[in-house]
Amino acid sequence: MLKNNFSQIDVLGAGPAGLGVGYFAKKYGIPVSIFELSNSVGGNSRTISNGEFRYDTGAHRLHNKHSSVTQIVKDLLGEDLKKVNVPSKIYYNQSMIDFPLNFINLLQCLQTSALIKIIKENLLNRIKPKRDIKSFKDLAYQSYGKTLSELFLINYTEKLWGKNSSELDPNISGKRLKNLDFFSIIKSLILGKYNTKHLDGSFLYPKHGFGTIFDELANNIGNENIFLDSKIEKIIHDGKKINQIVYSNGKSFKPGMVVNTLPLTILGNVFDPKPPSHIIECINRIQFRDVRLCILYLNKPKFSSNASLYFPESKFPYNRIYEPKNRSEKMAPQDKTCIVIESAFSRKDRDSMDSAESFYKKIRNSLVCERFIQKKDILGYEIGFISNAYPIIDVGIQKRITPVLSYFNSFDNHILHGRNAEFQYVHTHDLLKSSENLVSEFLRK
Ligand SMILES: Cc1cc2nc3c(=O)[nH]c(=O)nc-3n(C[C@H](O)[C@H](O)[C@H](O)COP(=O)(O)OP(=O)(O)OC[C@H]3O[C@@H](n4cnc5c(N)ncnc54)[C@H](O)[C@@H]3O)c2cc1C
Repeated sequence: MLKNNFSQIDVLGAGPAGLGVGYFAKKYGIPVSIFELSNSVGGNSRTISNGEFRYDTGAHRLHNKHSSVTQIVKDLLGEDLKKVNVPSKIYYNQSMIDFPLNFINLLQCLQTSALIKIIKENLLNRIKPKRDIKSFKDLAYQSYGKTLSELFLINYTEKLWGKNSSELDPNISGKRLKNLDFFSIIKSLILGKYNTKHLDGSFLYPKHGFGTIFDELANNIGNENIFLDSKIEKIIHDGKKINQIVYSNGKSFKPGMVVNTLPLTILGNVFDPKPPSHIIECINRIQFRDVRLCILYLNKPKFSSNASLYFPESKFPYNRIYEPKNRSEKMAPQDKTCIVIESAFSRKDRDSMDSAESFYKKIRNSLVCERFIQKKDILGYEIGFISNAYPIIDVGIQKRITPVLSYFNSFDNHILHGRNAEFQYVHTHDLLKSSENLVSEFLRK
């Protein structure tokens, strides 16, 4: 028996958060059912196969941040989970710059006057009393000084999130700037090593793609407990408890403990009766950033030697390119490769956006113009979408979101869980860890 006398868990959504809960429920012997809108598991962390090629829905990697989570993934994947050491670069002014930033690299590609300015600003940062960090812009200026921030960080961030960096919460750096500032770059130069605590560069990756982690979680949970093509349509409640869930054109069930991983923006519509108007107003103000993907199949063994390439300049109609084969050689045949080009956009721009063909042509022309590829290298292309890719964590969001989260978590048998339900910029290792905590909490009666 669980908390509040429930005997089972019903999970809405089979992304990493939902599957995480399913996995731990199974582990602790709690009956569990998972209801998923699409015809596959993994949510925004899937691997797609196309003939001899495989690619992930966006550049994913597993960070070894929670040893218990890493151990579970190791147990599930065995030898298929590999440690990968591949650098990432920033493409700026036709030069490749190491990411995390590297002082020698900066010496090579920046003018002396810019370098002097950067050193001066960072020395001043050290001496000046620390200011309150209220926005991403404050965080970047404090870590790198104005000049360096504006050369590589602010522009990339604004392109990715579609907002001025002074309106974005410092947390949108997703811990990328943690342990990193200008002086740590210099220190690493003197000590001759990079800051190994940094998220980029060294990570874990499954031989057949990131999504196989979630396929294995699903296998462990048992496919008979996962209901695909099951769109949640109504969550019927009496103000205290969820009494019925309606899915897939009118099928319904009486739920046990409900773990809801659906994006917050959907919940205002599916809750019946609807949440109070002040909650609906708050929900209407939150936004997600979507990502459009262009996958190019190339008739050459390699595109680059990097895990990811970042494009901060606005002239490029994309923000990041990643090459699956540089994470695992099993992702493409030996003599060919594919690249996944990510371009972030806001939902309001969806109607006015380029057709698939002109989007592809813009990307192709840009890559040809920069001499990354030749037209004749392209074997084919595919266009994809990642909906609700990034919850836009802007300044003041905590204050606006707290009443919404409190409302949905106030029901005896309903809890929000996951990146888009809790509206947090978290990664899958964090989601698996919090899934374990959640299930343990249910067992504490
Ligand atoms: C470009 C990109 C790169 C990323 N890189 C990394 C990385 O390197 N490492 C990392 O750990 N994380 C990374 N992430 C983050 C990771 O993808 C997410 O944290 C993770 O997918 C969130 O899991 P979730 O289960 O909370 O939500 P989701 O993955 O969004 O899953 C929610 C599920 O709910 C389902 N659903 C929605 N509506 C309904 C409905 N009405 N009825 C039933 N089901 C429904 C959806 O179909 C989906 O399967 C990246 C994300 C993006 C976009």
